[in-house]
Amino acid sequence: MAATPENRTPAAARRKVGRHRGEGQWAAGHFTPLNGNEQFKKDDDGLNVRTRIETVYSKRGFDSIDPNDLRGRMRWWGLYTQRKQGLDGTKTGVLEPEELDDEYFMLRVRIDGGRLTTEQLRVVGEISEEFARGTADITDRQNVQYHWIRIEDVPEIWNRLEAVGLSTTEACGDTPRVILGSPVAGIAADEIIDGTPAIDEIQRRIIGNKDFSNLPRKFKSAVSGSPLLDVAHEINDIAFVGVNHPEHGPGFDLWVGGGLSTNPKLGVRLGTWVSLDEVPDVYEGVISIFRDYGYRRLRNRARLKFLVADWGPEKFRQVLEDEYLKRKLTDGPAPEQPAGRWRDHVGVHRQKDGRFYVGFAPRVGRVDGATLTKIAEIAEAHGSGRVRTTAEQKMLVLDVEEERVESIVAALEALDLRVTPSPFRRGTMACTGIEFCKLAIVETKGRGSSLMDELERRLPEFDEPLTININGCPNACARIQVADIGLKGQLVLDDDGNRVEGYQVHLGGALGLEAGFGRKVRGLKVTAAELPDYVERVLKRFQAERETGERFAT
Ligand code: SF4
Repeated sequence: MAATPENRTPAAARRKVGRHRGEGQWAAGHFTPLNGNEQFKKDDDGLNVRTRIETVYSKRGFDSIDPNDLRGRMRWWGLYTQRKQGLDGTKTGVLEPEELDDEYFMLRVRIDGGRLTTEQLRVVGEISEEFARGTADITDRQNVQYHWIRIEDVPEIWNRLEAVGLSTTEACGDTPRVILGSPVAGIAADEIIDGTPAIDEIQRRIIGNKDFSNLPRKFKSAVSGSPLLDVAHEINDIAFVGVNHPEHGPGFDLWVGGGLSTNPKLGVRLGTWVSLDEVPDVYEGVISIFRDYGYRRLRNRARLKFLVADWGPEKFRQVLEDEYLKRKLTDGPAPEQPAGRWRDHVGVHRQKDGRFYVGFAPRVGRVDGATLTKIAEIAEAHGSGRVRTTAEQKMLVLDVEEERVESIVAALEALDLRVTPSPFRRGTMACTGIEFCKLAIVETKGRGSSLMDELERRLPEFDEPLTININGCPNACARIQVADIGLKGQLVLDDDGNRVEGYQVHLGGALGLEAGFGRKVRGLKVTAAELPDYVERVLKRFQAERETGERFAT
């Protein structure tokens, strides 16, 4: 029997009439598509596009692609058309979507838990060099993104990725996206619990499963047992955060309903303690609630955060327990405030087995295929077969013996991969921006890179943990709302009245147990040219006026 909304949704849920009649909730019996996205998802499951890519589009070329596949279903396999080259930010939102499309694609490789073997990393690097003009960005969701991908090459890229256990399945689209995991899962001396088995089981059970491939919008998830709270759990649709229960021991605290972009909301705790074995069931229950009760009328109200905000945590927990798990969950404690303020694992750290892991900072997540291949070679030359990506656009090499630490640090630093970076190198993230993203208004990666160089030159003594996040548009791919200094790309007027690239400034956002959104500084927009001067002024004022122990965000 083909999967349909009607047979995917539990009968008990279907009988319920939702409070939000007309929001397109399947659980309220609303199966008629209310917008174009819901229509194309109903017409054909996004996962089915793979066969057409393999048998038709890759053979007949870009022009043969059905528009509903091109701008819709191809995302289910990690493919977006990239921005046509040479268009500036004034064209975004003015030109029709098809006029912004290049015939090349961005391709996202999902790296659940940020875990890679050196063999996998080598393949990722080789694909970059052979098919993606050397491009490869480490994203703040632990993925790798290529650009310049031709549709003709996609089946071969899949063959090579899948031969080493990687995939692009549901890397984009209205799907369960990559599952973030602690980059030091299983090795950190201070770990509360290793969530890796749960990530593996969720992948096996949920990813690529057509019961969960038509969600109202994307579904972002995270599992981490690190006391550093290292997966930005507050801004995921579902997150499992390591805690010690006084009676039951190590397990996870469950958070739901976080998300940034427009109408940003922090996740809320349901007050439950979830054992490692229970995590996949609870994940399945929450994603099922999202599928069945999520709002499908308006795309900008479809993320889980809107349902959670309307229901509140008590009702959400009760529906989860009564309708989906059919049992009560155990009450549990909240996570504790982390001791450190950096969450990225950069630097040299002793593992619980006595070896070391070495975290390093590329420039705003930008690496390239040749560099990734060299990282794999360096790791292997130092006795390691494992690397990790982080949710801060950083990377780690694991399992380095003590006597080889100095040598690997030197080898990484020689590639401009800083193991002891300045706070600016360490704390600056940037989204894809106008170079390749169709929604972008301004440049981001290059500007972030030059900004950190300028700040290192101007403020060599600055030693405060700091985050500077740069977005190319009002979306939130680089998490501007939760940065100390968040920069939202837009066109602004310069002193001569010309419309030039610039940024709306948000100050004082944070993650962690003091999480909150930065304040939009009223009227404060800086041109790109003024940016280094502006950030320098802000930081100098902070240094001059801070009280003992005060951090930038307070
Ligand atoms: Fe593109 Fe905007 Fe996301 Fe940047 S924040 S990658 S410009 S959609």
